[in-house]
Amino acid sequence: MYISKAFIPILKNNPSEAKIKSHQLMLRVGMIKQSSAGIYSWLPLGFKVMKKIEKIVREEQNKIGAQEILMPTIQSSEIWKESGRYDDYGDEMLRIKDRQNREMLYGPTNEELVTDIFRSSIKSYKSLPQLLYHIQWKFRDEVRPRFGIMRCREFYMKDAYSFDVSDEDAVYSYNKFFLSYLKTFKRLDLTAIPMAADTGPIGGNLSHEFVILAETGESKIFTDKRIFDLDSAGSVIDRKSLEDLRKKYEQFYSVTDEKFNKEEFEKEVLEENRLITKGIEVGHIFYFGDKYSKPLNAAVDLPGGKKDFVKMGSYGIGVSRLVGAIIEAKYDDKEEIMKWPFSVAPYELAIIPMINKNETSALDKVTNIFKHFESINIDTIIDDTDENLSSKIKKFNLIGVPYQIIIGKKSEGDLLEFKETGKDPQNLTIDQITKILTELKAKN
Ligand code: ATP
Ligand code: MG
Repeated sequence: MYISKAFIPILKNNPSEAKIKSHQLMLRVGMIKQSSAGIYSWLPLGFKVMKKIEKIVREEQNKIGAQEILMPTIQSSEIWKESGRYDDYGDEMLRIKDRQNREMLYGPTNEELVTDIFRSSIKSYKSLPQLLYHIQWKFRDEVRPRFGIMRCREFYMKDAYSFDVSDEDAVYSYNKFFLSYLKTFKRLDLTAIPMAADTGPIGGNLSHEFVILAETGESKIFTDKRIFDLDSAGSVIDRKSLEDLRKKYEQFYSVTDEKFNKEEFEKEVLEENRLITKGIEVGHIFYFGDKYSKPLNAAVDLPGGKKDFVKMGSYGIGVSRLVGAIIEAKYDDKEEIMKWPFSVAPYELAIIPMINKNETSALDKVTNIFKHFESINIDTIIDDTDENLSSKIKKFNLIGVPYQIIIGKKSEGDLLEFKETGKDPQNLTIDQITKILTELKAKN
């Protein structure tokens, strides 16, 4: 892609309507455009990043044996009446009437619809567990949409649902998602901490919100900081190691304000380990037993011949919110440098020719270098504008293109000037650069 032809409408200054850095940057570099309150169009740069995040989320779902489906955005009110949530959901649900005067809605979540799909086909314990997920737009008519795509009305979510024959099996499914979430956020270079969350009227203790630290986050969090030293390295998906993994996290106090209890916090956590701060919820997992399978009558045959309602859980990741969350975590708004993890950067490499445009041999060299990186699947953009070098570097810092090749006076013979964002350039051959970039690509 040539930058002169790319649809990247960069603004000179931060837009005044944006209060937090992710919203500022996304408007500034033209990743999104608001179309109405809390509803956004995704422009090429933003859409590329979101699609790359989606790919990682998908890969990690597939690794635990979840199967991808795609449910529609528009749902019938019938199943919501069966579960009793049609009235309960209130004003957050966008309700629509079709030409036959049927009550429809734009799905805010999919427990009912997926249970309906399940019950029509799965009749025996032999087909369990079933882990189904989809990645689809949701609509919630939030009271106060704000912070750009962080809290908007239409947003892109991965939601998964598990169906099991018993509580024990359901907990095993839950733990698979617990691990898969840790891995997903780690691949996005985020430290997302699982925090005990409210399970609402069904009780029990099995719900975790995954929260990343950020001053601008909307969740107030209370933790034992030692939880930040944990990771999921070495975990495999057998029952025992997954249970151990979850327990390892649960031994440290870590809750959001809904569950906070001052007395408990002070009793369980030594003063020097206490951390009270703010965070962004990027995922939420939930075990709720037969809350939906019972009213919707989703039952299977058990080994002895009896029937029982399936035990369900649901597991969400805010794919579009993650774009903003990564910016909150990685954008240096003083220096105006955005450090995307390599795996989700909108472009991986920028080629910056600082040559005389009448010199055909120099132009050929640029084209050949570009073609080479395209052919090995490095997402590359050429800067063919007339700006000076420092403006170009500033622009790629702002957009967050992690590597740049500058072709100019200093690139004599076989050596090219190769620069990582925020660092000094070094002179390397095209083979050396290829090795660096392909290794990075393989790691992700
Ligand atoms: P929140 O407390 O932030 O409203 P929630 O508890 O309503 O979130 P879930 O229903 O569990 O969220 O949805 C799963 C994920 O979808 C959340 O963890 C979040 O990342 C994302 N999400 C939820 N609401 C929004 C929204 N209005 N805009 C963008 N992303 C959202
Ligand atoms: Mg909400």
